[in-house]
Amino acid sequence: MSLAVLLIAGACGSDDSGDSAATDTDATSETDATTSNDVSSDDTSSDSDTAAAGAVDVGLFFDGALAQEVTTEDCTLSGGTETTCYSITVAGDPVSYDTGPFCPATITDSAEAGGIWFDGTGVYDLDGEFIANLAELYGDDNWMMYDEDGNVLVTETAEEFEAAARPDVDPSLQNHCVEGRAEWLENGEPVTSTVLIPVEPVLADAAAATRGNLGVTLDGVVIAESAPVDAILGAYTIAAFDDCGGHYNPFDGYHLHGAVGCSEVDEVSDGETAMFAYAMDGFAVHSPLDDPDSADLDECNGHTTEADGYHYHANSAEQNLVIECLIGQTVDGGGR
Ligand SMILES: [Zn+2]
Ligand SMILES: [Zn+2]
Repeated sequence: MSLAVLLIAGACGSDDSGDSAATDTDATSETDATTSNDVSSDDTSSDSDTAAAGAVDVGLFFDGALAQEVTTEDCTLSGGTETTCYSITVAGDPVSYDTGPFCPATITDSAEAGGIWFDGTGVYDLDGEFIANLAELYGDDNWMMYDEDGNVLVTETAEEFEAAARPDVDPSLQNHCVEGRAEWLENGEPVTSTVLIPVEPVLADAAAATRGNLGVTLDGVVIAESAPVDAILGAYTIAAFDDCGGHYNPFDGYHLHGAVGCSEVDEVSDGETAMFAYAMDGFAVHSPLDDPDSADLDECNGHTTEADGYHYHANSAEQNLVIECLIGQTVDGGGR
């Protein structure tokens, strides 16, 4: 869809915001050269090697992925560590692909006409057959998401989208496939998001689940926490994802819920999957492993390799949780 391309171009244009405070961006290249082992110096636990992973490399973000220049600022991490963080503002629309499609138009549409749905137990192609079989899949005859002509009931206006994409779904929009469009966002613009991520990851005392945004992709969108599947299905709606595992909501714009191999860097180490994001603690996130049992992953699906240092592997999309948990400290409210 060409509209997305236009909006991306608009986001790129905001680079010239004249931010006179952005004096620290050159620090990137210096820290890259000097930080590969600094993390472990703060760490007294026996597994300090797991954190010797180097610093965030803001140069990995794709051209156009950031709406502003990256700046640095003092920050206090969740474990009390005072350090330096990057302030990273993602553009809010993925530069590496066009968003959508989301919902199929009819119950005879093929998988190309729609995106995907995942609910914690499976990933489903959002084709016409999926819509036709909802009552059977979820064991509830109240599912009826198409009319007598086989047309799928889809949110068709910004107002319907807003009324359906919230916890208390308007009853008139039950049995609708919910999809948003870039043009329905406020002012028709992508929603930028600024996150604070430690320049160098610092281990936490214990691994922790994250609240709020889990990270940012290299192509410019936030990785959101789990989609509220129970509320979505409880309202007889499907909050459709596109084939890259993201969708719109009226407030956060486009955001990611499932890692399916989009937004990846080109270079991949032997036996690895490609990196596609940074987690909020500053560690890299790679795509899911085909066989997670083949690697000795920790409780957060992370491990240290010679080529890539410590990094997480994303969960498979069906789990509806991109990053299992974080071993590093984060900035409280840093996912603002
Ligand atoms: Zn969402
Ligand atoms: Zn790995």
